[in-house]
Amino acid sequence: MMKTDQQKSVITFPRNILEPIKRFLEEEVVKWKRAEKKIKKNDPFADDTRTVGNSLENDTDEQIGRFEAEVKADFVKKHLVQLRKALTKIKLGRYGLCDKCGKMIDTERLAIKPEITTCINCARDQE
Ligand SMILES: [Zn+2]
Repeated sequence: MMKTDQQKSVITFPRNILEPIKRFLEEEVVKWKRAEKKIKKNDPFADDTRTVGNSLENDTDEQIGRFEAEVKADFVKKHLVQLRKALTKIKLGRYGLCDKCGKMIDTERLAIKPEITTCINCARDQE
């Protein structure tokens, strides 16, 4: 089979649908980047002016604050990776195709989470 025929058999989204998705994803990246900055700023351990030798109570608060910041930062980081991955897929003309199996991702799934890059079956396997 000729390569061009194979490419034709893959259904991709038309440009007029992809454009708003792309714009949405780009806006999300900006938004989540801002959130990332904010988390880093709120991290008490990132604050150089913090006093050493606090009471135990304060230390515990800081530990919790640190833990929360780490969890949040990790979540934001992962989400940013996901958003960038989806944007790259648009650029490559592979948006809507599962990273794992290459099949079309359910459009209902994409409508809820446009940054998703795996189909429901592959996502289930990951869990
Ligand atoms: Zn899949």
